Amino acid sequence: MTDQQRQQKTEACEVEETRAGHRVTSPSGNTYEVRSHTKLDELGSMYFTRSCSCPARGTCVHMAAVDLYQRQQAAAAGDYDGLNVLDRFEI
Ligand SMILES: [Zn+2]
Repeated sequence: MTDQQRQQKTEACEVEETRAGHRVTSPSGNTYEVRSHTKLDELGSMYFTRSCSCPARGTCVHMAAVDLYQRQQAAAAGDYDGLNVLDRFEI
């Protein structure tokens, strides 16, 4: 998959907020649950990871779609703290 194809797939996903995290509907109609996790590294600094219920390894387009969605929400709200937090995600 090229970067451009990946970008198109990411943008074609629909993201919905749920109590547990986010539900992502892919263009093919499958839905997956994406969860965010807060973690501490060995120095006690907070960082964040995401997990997805799809079978793909590594960062799938669903996690990328949630990242894009959260950035758009934070940018729309002028939430710079929120954007900072997103930069601390290890995906
Ligand atoms: Zn996925």
